[in-house]
Amino acid sequence: MQQKNTLIDIGANLAHHRFHADLDAVIDRARQAGVEHIIVTGTSERASRDAHALTQNYAGYLSSTAGVHPHEAKNWNAGCAKTIEQLAGRQGVVAIGECGLDYNRMFSTEAQQLLCFEAQLQLAVRVQKPVFLHEREAHDAFFALLKQYRSQLKGAVVHCFTGNTAEIREYLDLDCHIGVTGWVCDERRGDDLRQALKFLPKEKLMIETDAPFLLPRNLPVKPQEGRNEPMYLPVVLEAVASILGISATALAQQVRLNTGQFFNLPLAA
Ligand SMILES: [Zn+2]
Repeated sequence: MQQKNTLIDIGANLAHHRFHADLDAVIDRARQAGVEHIIVTGTSERASRDAHALTQNYAGYLSSTAGVHPHEAKNWNAGCAKTIEQLAGRQGVVAIGECGLDYNRMFSTEAQQLLCFEAQLQLAVRVQKPVFLHEREAHDAFFALLKQYRSQLKGAVVHCFTGNTAEIREYLDLDCHIGVTGWVCDERRGDDLRQALKFLPKEKLMIETDAPFLLPRNLPVKPQEGRNEPMYLPVVLEAVASILGISATALAQQVRLNTGQFFNLPLAA
């Protein structure tokens, strides 16, 4: 039987209510698919607490991020900032985020988003943890703010990158890592992304599912309810490997190395 590649999912929303009923089974399936570690995304004060609590239940297998998504920026206040900073010091919390700007649906105003994003960049500098970044339809403002802080940040990954070649080049100029999801498998809208990835050095690549969202569209059998899970991470790896024209196995080894170093994960040798 073919050896499975060992993969790390850098972004799964396992604290989401769609995983409440069967998280054990989801984790079992992920392990069987070769996923050796999952970083649970924190998207709000509460979700960041929940994500961290999960890491305690599945110690060693799960890590988490602590941060406030731009959609939630309207809820950013002193109490929330304090919670995120406290979480950042806990074991198993490996990055600040997801944070950034999202001008697609504007669930928070531009001013709220900018304030919330900058505060988290400053926090990440203080605690010297990398940032897990979200940007949608806000590249210029996002880039300008990130650039101001980049030299002081321990690391920066632009998660769920869906942009074009010009954008990826700018992020690479800032020495960012790039997180790629199942968006890359979407034949309707992934063209810019597939083109851009050809310019990505494989040392800068990390992969993620963004589960329960962004189910890869090319799955032969679709799961009920269309829920994405970390077990589908190999599909993302295969898609990127075919774009870059290298073997999935070689790419998996490189991506694992990138990810372990970036998040300082306790991986088996
Ligand atoms: Zn995101």
